[in-house]
Amino acid sequence: MLMDGKVGLIMGLANKFSIAYGISESLRKAGARLVFTSQTEYFKSKISEIAADFGGHEVILCDVSQDGDIERAFDSVVSAIGKIDFIVHSIAFSDKDELTGKYYNTTRANFLNAMNISCYSFTETCRHAKNILNEGGSIVTLTYYGSEKVVPNYNVMALAKAALETSVRYLAEDLGEFGIRVNAISAGPIKTLAASGVGEFSRILSYDRQRSPLRRNVTQQDIGDACTFLASDMSAGITGEILHVDCGTNIIGVKFDDSKS
Ligand code: NAP
Repeated sequence: MLMDGKVGLIMGLANKFSIAYGISESLRKAGARLVFTSQTEYFKSKISEIAADFGGHEVILCDVSQDGDIERAFDSVVSAIGKIDFIVHSIAFSDKDELTGKYYNTTRANFLNAMNISCYSFTETCRHAKNILNEGGSIVTLTYYGSEKVVPNYNVMALAKAALETSVRYLAEDLGEFGIRVNAISAGPIKTLAASGVGEFSRILSYDRQRSPLRRNVTQQDIGDACTFLASDMSAGITGEILHVDCGTNIIGVKFDDSKS
């Protein structure tokens, strides 16, 4: 199996609808062993139940907005099971009241918080990656097409994702000398807890489905399998890449609705 003997850390699994859940399923099927983080003690037992289904170890607390939490969490992983092979960063946050209407209404507080949790946390993850990852390790984060083109209501999250994507390139250069690869998956829309905070999300879903060359939305499995590829040695020559996993929607500029012609 592709991931036999590999161990990885999953950051950002909230529930069975999370993209991180689909990723965990795929990695597990490919033979990987998984460790999970939880932002709060409150959700830890829920995540522990899911982790147990995946044969996971103890869930480690990590609120990425708190100074020192990522480093502490990585130290706990290394003391519990030693160095690992990959990290999946599947974390983002914005006040949902600002994921609707005009972007210019974004407050300074939410701008900074969204950037901190959704972008800076990835930089910090990569800064400590050498302490937790074996040589040849892989780090994958999640982004979205709203960073490239305007998507209604995506607002401040689009800026955070644009910064995240640029981070991927700089971090890939920084970590390349240690044999560590850094990539992102630009996932098509999927109905999750975080996504349901984006205004008119169901319209984004159906618009994407109509435009997609494959005439469908992506699934958790599509994203999970692409992430397994990026976490595996099959992608050993790929770093600094933003891989679109969106049924091809991003390649479409204009699409006529034939039913109306
Ligand atoms: P999700 O299930 O709600 O996952 C978001 C995760 O971020 C949750 O586990 C949440 O933890 C965690 N998080 C937020 N603030 C945190 C903090 N301070 N410390 C640690 N963890 C924190 O939603 P999702 O859609 O799967 O999102 C995963 C990633 O995919 C995000 O980066 C998102 O932007 C990206 N993405 C999503 C879509 C989509 O359409 N769904 C498309 C492209 C990219 P709590 O539950 O404890 O708050």
